Amino acid sequence: MSRRGLLDAIVVGAGAAGGAMALALARAGLDVAIIEAKPPRSWQPEGEMDLRVVALAPDARALLAGLGVWPSIARRVGPYRHMRVWDAVAPGELHFDAAERGEAALGWIVENMLIQHALFEALAANGVGPGRIDVHCPARIAELDNGEDAVRVELEDGTRLTARLLVAADGADSAVRQRLGIEVDGREYGQRGVVAHVATARPHQGTAWQRFLPGGPLAFLPLGDGRCSVVWSLPDAEAARVLALDDAAFRAELGAALDFRLGEVTAATPRAAFPLRLRLAERYLHGRCVLAGDAAHVVHPLAGQGMNLGLRDVTCLRGVLAAARARGSDIGARHVLRRYERERRSEATLAARAFDLIERGFAPPFVPLAAVRGAALAAAGAIAPIRHLLADVAAGRPPGRLAGR
Ligand SMILES: Cc1cc2nc3c(=O)[nH]c(=O)nc-3n(C[C@H](O)[C@H](O)[C@H](O)COP(=O)(O)OP(=O)(O)OC[C@H]3O[C@@H](n4cnc5c(N)ncnc54)[C@H](O)[C@@H]3O)c2cc1C
Repeated sequence: MSRRGLLDAIVVGAGAAGGAMALALARAGLDVAIIEAKPPRSWQPEGEMDLRVVALAPDARALLAGLGVWPSIARRVGPYRHMRVWDAVAPGELHFDAAERGEAALGWIVENMLIQHALFEALAANGVGPGRIDVHCPARIAELDNGEDAVRVELEDGTRLTARLLVAADGADSAVRQRLGIEVDGREYGQRGVVAHVATARPHQGTAWQRFLPGGPLAFLPLGDGRCSVVWSLPDAEAARVLALDDAAFRAELGAALDFRLGEVTAATPRAAFPLRLRLAERYLHGRCVLAGDAAHVVHPLAGQGMNLGLRDVTCLRGVLAAARARGSDIGARHVLRRYERERRSEATLAARAFDLIERGFAPPFVPLAAVRGAALAAAGAIAPIRHLLADVAAGRPPGRLAGR
C-alpha cells in the first residue's frame, strides 16, 4: 500500500462479478478488500448439480483461466460445440458450429455455485499476488463515505476500510447502488425462468438447443454428465402452472415444447423458478464508486449473457485501472472511472435493449412478430457472415473481426 492504511479498491459482493473483480485487480498488483454478506455455500464434486447454471462465453472462460480458477471449474462443465435456434410458429433455423470457427467450443455450461466456490477458494487462499486481498465474510457495510480523496467504509463489526475506489458488485438489488442514490430503469417481464435438470431419450450431442415459443424461449443446455439443464421462460401464471405439474406431466410437456428434438424427457429433478427482469442503472459511476455485474445491469436470460456481461465489466475495469496506474494517475479519479462507465454502459445497454426487443416479440399481442423473427432466423442462418457476426457477439468478440471472413 502506497499510503498507510489506504487500499486500492474495496469490492462489495463475492458473486461471479465481485469475486472475479477482486482476483483480477489483485492479480494486476492492487491491494483489495472484498466484503461478502453471506458465507459461501459449500460445493461437493459428488453432490447434485446446482439448478442455476450459466452458459459461459469463450472470453469469460479466458478471464477465469487467466485468474487460475478454470481448473477448479472444469471439474464439472458441459462444453457445447453447436447451437441450434428455431421458432415454434415460423420457419427458419440458426445453426452455429464451433468447428466452422476453428474453436474447441462455443461455450461452457457451468453451475453458478461452482463458479462462486472456485472464486471464493482462490480469494481465501490469497495466492494470486502480487496484490493483497483481505476477505471480510460474512460482513456488511454500516457506513459509506464517498469522499473526494478516498472512499471510507465502516463494516457492521466496526472494521474501517479506506480505498481509492469502491466496486459495487452486490447483485440486482444492490444496497450500495441504493445508498448512492443511483436510479434504475427497466421493467418486470411478468415472466419466470423455470429451471430443472433433465435426462432425454436421445443424447444432447454437445448442442445448446433453443426454441422460441409464443410464451417465451425454451433452452436445453448440455451438461457434462449427459443430462440437459432446462431454462424455460414463461409468463408468471404459466410458470406457476408448470411448477405445479406432477413429474410425468412436466416431462411430457417439456418434451413436446422442444418438439421432441431430443425425444422424450425420461427423468427430471425438482424444479425452481426465477423472476425475469430488465434493470439498467442510470449511471455506473458516482464519485469514487462504480457498479459492476447485476448491480449495474440485469438482462433477460434468453441470450445467456448476464454473467458474461458482468465478467466483461471485470476485464474492462482491470484494463482501465492498469493503464491509469502505468501513467501514474489516481485510479479512483473521475476521468479514469468514466472510461469504464462509458465503455461498459454502452455495451450492456445495447445488449439489454436487443434482448428486450426479442422478448417483446414473444408477448401474446405481438405473436405475428414471430413470422418476422422466423424470416430473420432463416436469412441469418443462410448467410454465413451474419451467422458469424451473431456468434461473435455471443462470444464477446469484437464483430469487426468478421470483415476479413
Ligand atoms: C434463469 C436464469 C438463467 C440465466 N442464464 C445465464 C446464462 O446462461 N449466462 C449468463 O451469462 N448469465 C445467465 N444468467 C444471469 C446470471 O445468473 C447473473 O447475471 C449472474 O449470476 C450475476 O452475478 P453477480 O456476481 O453480478 O451477482 P450475484 O450472483 O447476485 O452476486 C452478488 C453477491 O453480492 C452479495 N451481496 C448482496 N448484498 C450484499 C451486501 N449488502 N453486502 C455484501 N455482499 C452482498 C451476495 O451475497 C452475492 O454473493 C441467468 C439468470 C437467470 C435468472
